[in-house]
Amino acid sequence: MVFVDRDGTLNRHRPGYVTRGDDLDVLPGVPAAVRLLNDAGCRVVLVTNQRGLATGALTEAQLVEVHQRLVDDLATAGAHLDAIQVCPHQVGECGCRKPLPGLFEQALRRAPWARVGRCVMVGDQDTDLVPAQGLGMRTARVDEASATFEEVVRALLMPTI
Ligand SMILES: [Mg+2]
Ligand SMILES: [Zn+2]
Repeated sequence: MVFVDRDGTLNRHRPGYVTRGDDLDVLPGVPAAVRLLNDAGCRVVLVTNQRGLATGALTEAQLVEVHQRLVDDLATAGAHLDAIQVCPHQVGECGCRKPLPGLFEQALRRAPWARVGRCVMVGDQDTDLVPAQGLGMRTARVDEASATFEEVVRALLMPTI
C-alpha cells in the first residue's frame, strides 16, 4: 500500500486552503505516476490534514469539489486513488492529524492483508513521514525542485537487484 500526501506532493502547494477545483494545480507527471502504482497492484491511499473544515475556512462541499477535481485529473491518465483519508480536526483535538498516526491506522485497519513493512508513505514534509516511520513504514520525500512525485514513484517501483 502506498500512502500519499496531497498538497505539495500531488498538487502544487499554495498559501491558504484549496477551496475550489479550479485552484487545484496537479503537478506534472502525477497522474501518470499514480497510474504506474495502480498498474503495479499498489493500493494508493491519500492522507491529508484539512483543518480548514474545523476553522470554517473550508466547507465539506468545497472539499468534495476539490477532491472530485483531483479524481478527474487522475482519471485523464487512467489513474485512481483507492481511498481518501481526511483529518478534519483542529490541532490537538484528535489522534489523526499528521504527524499523529490515526489516518494511517484507519487505512491499515481496513486492509488487514497489508504488511506495514511493505507500505510506503510519500510526502513533502516531516509531518507526513514521521508517523509512517513510527508505524514501521518506508518513506520517500517529494520535493518540487529536486525529486518529483513521478521520480519518487519510479524509484520505488524499480526492481532491486
Ligand atoms: Mg504536503
Ligand atoms: Zn483528526
